[in-house]
Amino acid sequence: MKKTIITCAITGAETTRQHNPNLPLTPEEIADAAAEACLTGASILHLHVRDANGEPTQDVDVFKAVIEEVRRKCDIVIEVTTGGAVGMTLEERLQPLQLEPEMASLDCGTCNFGDDYLVNTLPMVREAAEQMNRYKVRATFECFDLSHVDTSMLLIKEGLIKPPFHYGFVLNVPGGIRYDAETLGIFVNRIPKDAFWTVMGIGGKANLAAVYGAIVYGGFIRVGFEDNVYFTKGVLAESNAQLVERAAKITKDAGCDIATPSDVRQMLSLR
Ligand code: ZN
Repeated sequence: MKKTIITCAITGAETTRQHNPNLPLTPEEIADAAAEACLTGASILHLHVRDANGEPTQDVDVFKAVIEEVRRKCDIVIEVTTGGAVGMTLEERLQPLQLEPEMASLDCGTCNFGDDYLVNTLPMVREAAEQMNRYKVRATFECFDLSHVDTSMLLIKEGLIKPPFHYGFVLNVPGGIRYDAETLGIFVNRIPKDAFWTVMGIGGKANLAAVYGAIVYGGFIRVGFEDNVYFTKGVLAESNAQLVERAAKITKDAGCDIATPSDVRQMLSLR
């Protein structure tokens, strides 16, 4: 039986200290949170970084500093974001690929994002995929909508992304497609048979439901302050690791084994 991968998205671009005062922002705080998450069962770090003012940035030097700090503290697989933050240009968003990270998120289409929207036209998605190929980075097809799954199939057909395939279903973004078990089932049935997938429910209620959904459908889990800052209704999480710890317990209680970073490197054929 394949092992369950837990990804932790510890900072994100839109979460602030107003949402949760325990949000890690500096390179040191991000590295400490990553190491703690790794210790409790996370094997992939989905990484966004912040500048000195705590604002989201795709600056390659900031990414470099944070990645070095994380590497000093743990062996977690690093997936950099190329989604960046609302309003960034594609060129800006793709900068961290130059550091040749093991993995990167690949947004597969345009969508609503709360009161804002994310722009990913087909030429932009193709350009991002080409750069990931060039730097030998394993792409995670981030699908905020079913149409994004269809776009991923187009990229595969065009030979832009090679197997093994890894998907991230981002469900319950305000203005986007809901999370529920039925909807997740439709996503799972649309992707290539041998593809791996991770589901993230955005917001407290959907987040925990998606952890259970991943177990039921045999996929992977993502938790962390990027997606949800609550532990239970109205109660803020103390740390990212607290969310990882619960996801790991649910996984083990369901009789599944948790993947280590080296399992991930093997399963996803990372460079
Ligand atoms: Zn992200």
